[in-house]
Amino acid sequence: MPGHDDIPFVFAGAGLDRLAPRRDDPDWPRQTLAAARTRFVPVLEEENAIITGSDAPAPLLLDGIQARPLLAQARCTVLLGSYAGHTCFALGLPRDASLSAGNVALTNLRPQLAVLEYSALALLGYARAMVHWHCHNRFCGKCGAPTRSHRLGHELRCTRAGCGNVIYPRVNPAIIVLVTHGDRCLLGHQSGWLEKRYSTIAGFVEPGEDLEASVRREVLEETNIRVTSMRYDSSQPWPYPASLMLGFRAAADNTDIHCNDGELADARWFSRADIARGIQDGDLVLPTYRSISYRLVQAWFEESGEYSLGHYPQTKAFPSR
Ligand SMILES: [Zn+2]
Repeated sequence: MPGHDDIPFVFAGAGLDRLAPRRDDPDWPRQTLAAARTRFVPVLEEENAIITGSDAPAPLLLDGIQARPLLAQARCTVLLGSYAGHTCFALGLPRDASLSAGNVALTNLRPQLAVLEYSALALLGYARAMVHWHCHNRFCGKCGAPTRSHRLGHELRCTRAGCGNVIYPRVNPAIIVLVTHGDRCLLGHQSGWLEKRYSTIAGFVEPGEDLEASVRREVLEETNIRVTSMRYDSSQPWPYPASLMLGFRAAADNTDIHCNDGELADARWFSRADIARGIQDGDLVLPTYRSISYRLVQAWFEESGEYSLGHYPQTKAFPSR
């Protein structure tokens, strides 16, 4: 299981059986969509619905009866799978849909990363990603005709006779890398982020590139550092909108940093002592607990045996950027 201390990464789909064979079962959807036991995960435009008002926020799951009046106005209905003993569908709804439930907030999931239970976060992220994909593929990219949903929302087909275009949910690979040199690691800061927040270097893989080339290019473009000895570590989904973060470690050949392409406002070398002191003095904010970037930093920080992130704040809901 990807993650640290047996806790999965944010948005990793632990505990969900996707029920993929059911996508091709002709009789199953009608019965299941009408069953009271079925649960629906509403996504309004591109925001998730969270039940607030208690100590621990939880996803709003509508039962079959609550969802019935909403099914007619749903822009898409997508089978997610079996979650906590219930078959779950994502329900893509317009922004003004009435959920008829109290204490519900519509939200982006970024501020909720550290406070939602991990499997609930994974379910909401999966629902959000599928609804986003439907909303952005309403028309065929080849001929412009409307598309129609098939296989319980996992395939979109062009409706124009003779076109034959079929669209599948797309995942965009992105690399994320902890670069080290001697006893220091390279972390960067983007201008829109929370002040004092530093994280690992990341960027999208381009067509025609292997992952190693992508790591080399992104680190060089963003920081002027040349890297070697790349080693894959782990991966994490990121549904804003459809990324898969592929985590690496790499070693630097040089140390003279220049933020070449403007993506980073600042990048620095941090020793373990710098990180420990920065956290203690409030001068450094690390990536969100349970994120792949946190894990990459934590693994390096602790491997010397001198330091531990210990109880680095694990429940604080960091601002979204
Ligand atoms: Zn078409």
